[in-house]
Amino acid sequence: MEPELETDVEKAERPPVGDSAWETALAQLDEVAELMGLAPGVHETLRAPKRTLIVSVPFRMDDGSTRVYQGYRVHHNVTRGPAKGGIRYHPAVGLDEVKALAMWMTWKCAIVGIPFGGAKGGVSVDVRDHSRAEIERMTRRYASEILPFIGPEKDIPAPDMNTNEEIMAWIMDTYSMNSGYSVPGVVTGKPVSIGGSKGRGGATSRGVMYMIFSTLKQLGIGIDEVSVAIQGYGKVGGFAAQLLHDAGCRVVAVSDVEGGLYREKGLDPEAINRHKQEAGSVLGFPGAEPITNEELLEIDCDVLVPAAIEGVVTIKNADRIQAKIVCEGANGPVTFEADKILNDRGVVVVPDILANSGGVTVSYFEWVQDIQAYFWSEEEVNDRLRDIMEDAFSQVHALATDKGLSMRQAAHWIGVGRVAEAHLTRGLFP
Ligand code: NAD
Repeated sequence: MEPELETDVEKAERPPVGDSAWETALAQLDEVAELMGLAPGVHETLRAPKRTLIVSVPFRMDDGSTRVYQGYRVHHNVTRGPAKGGIRYHPAVGLDEVKALAMWMTWKCAIVGIPFGGAKGGVSVDVRDHSRAEIERMTRRYASEILPFIGPEKDIPAPDMNTNEEIMAWIMDTYSMNSGYSVPGVVTGKPVSIGGSKGRGGATSRGVMYMIFSTLKQLGIGIDEVSVAIQGYGKVGGFAAQLLHDAGCRVVAVSDVEGGLYREKGLDPEAINRHKQEAGSVLGFPGAEPITNEELLEIDCDVLVPAAIEGVVTIKNADRIQAKIVCEGANGPVTFEADKILNDRGVVVVPDILANSGGVTVSYFEWVQDIQAYFWSEEEVNDRLRDIMEDAFSQVHALATDKGLSMRQAAHWIGVGRVAEAHLTRGLFP
């Protein structure tokens, strides 16, 4: 044990870190760089993304008019392999957010030991303002604009907030039409009919579940003893609710952008899915108490899974979080300063770069299957995912215990350490 390492950093006078994703990502890197004694040249290199691309995305509206949005694609690092990361459609998408998400992808891929670097992309758009046809035209134009950046050996996009397998299919088609032949390996998270992987759809949620179970095991708590609250009922949160419910946990609260639901005795995700299909939101589900997203975070539960957006647990609410475990399904839901408060209060935070790495792990499986044109069974995918994630958890937990670090610091130590090692091994060009 070398607890003095952490204490030194904790005690050091430092100005408070802001709540934005980029400030959070940089502060996490800076902290671990100091803890691990990272070479200053490598540290400085890793603070900045390798490449950023800002594009203008004009597209035709259904009424014949033209709309123009700003799009982004950032490669944070490609030292260990091609860049990998999702594409987000959200009004808050901006360069700094995409840079933060790309940096987290770099560490995430290194932690689970897959040969990718980190990327992210997005368009600053509110998808609720557009028809499916408009989203298709916007997607195809965005894909054309980022075409020089992407490719199976260069950068492989995937779904993120408000993007899905249909959107991945349009990107794959746009890229393939430009190439003159089918290139399935250019995106992951696409439909199985065009080279998608079995198990990719639920992979992030499944990984979140494995990480919760590994944490419970460490704490000596039974799976069927815990209550869970989940913020965000999308691809990650919605399926996590189902998996955790099926495994015997009591899912007491869920929410989407419209608001949330609470039922102390537990909610039935299958019934909520049916309701959501008809109503378009979890809100109004019969037999549950309506709550706000803010209330959900502070609800009395054992496990909190923020699975929507970044920056929802801040210094304003961190001391009111009642969960014993916070498992970050979303990227960056806990700010740097809030993380310190949770840590001081003994709340175990399973950090995003470990907790939600199941998605990119199965994306890696999908890319491998596409390149080999040889496809695996769902059981094979899920088994390999579980092995990789449980192994990553053990490594992070062992390092945290050994050095007296938080799980987040230990995860960053491993991720940053592997990327730094690759940099030093390759040497600085030219
Ligand atoms: P999604 O679009 O499928 O679902 C997002 C959910 O969050 C929706 O239910 C939406 O209504 C809700 N939401 C949006 N804004 C909200 C707000 N302000 N407050 C509360 N709820 C809100 O997106 P997703 O793919 O499930 O991604 C969710 C998070 O998980 C993101 O942070 C994403 O980066 C991260 N993530 C996703 C994957 C993946 O494979 N999809 C992998 C790793 C991490």
